Amino acid sequence: MPEERDEPVALSVVIPMYNEEEALPALVSRVRPVLDGLGVAHEVIAVDDGSGDRTAELLAAFRLGWPELRIISLRRNSGHQAALTAGLDRSAGAYVVSLDADLQDPPEKIPEMLALARAEGLDIVYGVRADRSSDTGFKRWTAGLYYRLMRRLAGPSVLAQAGDFRLLSRAAVDALKALPDQQRVYRLLVPWLGFPSGQVTYERAPRTAGRTKYPLGRMIRLAVDSVTGFSAAPLRLATWLGAGAFVVCLGLLVYTLTAFALGRTVPGWTSLFTGLVFIGAVQLICVGLLGEYVGRIYTAVQNRPTYFVRNDTSAPEAETPADKPRVPAPRG
Ligand code: UDP
Ligand code: MG
Repeated sequence: MPEERDEPVALSVVIPMYNEEEALPALVSRVRPVLDGLGVAHEVIAVDDGSGDRTAELLAAFRLGWPELRIISLRRNSGHQAALTAGLDRSAGAYVVSLDADLQDPPEKIPEMLALARAEGLDIVYGVRADRSSDTGFKRWTAGLYYRLMRRLAGPSVLAQAGDFRLLSRAAVDALKALPDQQRVYRLLVPWLGFPSGQVTYERAPRTAGRTKYPLGRMIRLAVDSVTGFSAAPLRLATWLGAGAFVVCLGLLVYTLTAFALGRTVPGWTSLFTGLVFIGAVQLICVGLLGEYVGRIYTAVQNRPTYFVRNDTSAPEAETPADKPRVPAPRG
């Protein structure tokens, strides 16, 4: 929150960033004019998700000339959704917009989102990607698959092309904060709230600079969290697999008995081995599925925080002496 002003913050813009030193200058030069032009009290919350590059240094330098910039630095890399949680948890605005740091989502759409929410009294305004042609074919294919699956599991209120560019009202943010969910996937949780919503379409631009921070492993993690967070259907899949295996085994039993009756018992090795492998596989799948849910229950019971804040420029009292932010002189 900008300390200079006494007016309540009308808009918070939360930007999680992980190793975004290359994208940061362009980000600042596009976000700042948009927000200054709005003419409302605002804060820009840069959540530094444990970056190992010069992101922290650059942020500190930008803040010297931009009092609305608030920096929340996390102690370690916690992931995009956890970084978003940190930003939402501490945001002060009556409305909160979340934005990626790589300018794939245009900040110029923020005024439109805010105007729409205010005019129609909406709690949620989704940024919906009209055009993804800037993404790679693989990204589009996996994203298409992901959204189809999510709409089946979490319901049609999950918009197919809505990522993490969206506006939330204070009421929506407070509702999200009150949820007990640990591994949060906001693009599913927000539609689940079911609050009055609208949408603004935009064209997804290519990443301005740097490389994606979502390698395949993280994409799979997001998909697993999404599915297990919203549906017990995979557990029923285990039951169906088990039933299928049982039927196959009955068939095998008939075959074995026939072979036995015909006195051809020796060449039974292949069928025996196939059956063994098949049943083994089915059992492993089922145990794996159970493990996925038991894992979630375990995490929920532990109730560990998903992020740790090292410093928040708006709440510096949280600092410990060892964590004095290293603020370098701004570069020429
Ligand atoms: N991000 C983050 N922590 C991470 C990974 C990503 O805060 O561990 C941020 C990243 O800096 C960016 C946003 O999340 O602002 C989306 O990541 P990215 O653009 O790399 O994902 P993609 O657009 O390729 O799906
Ligand atoms: Mg991106």
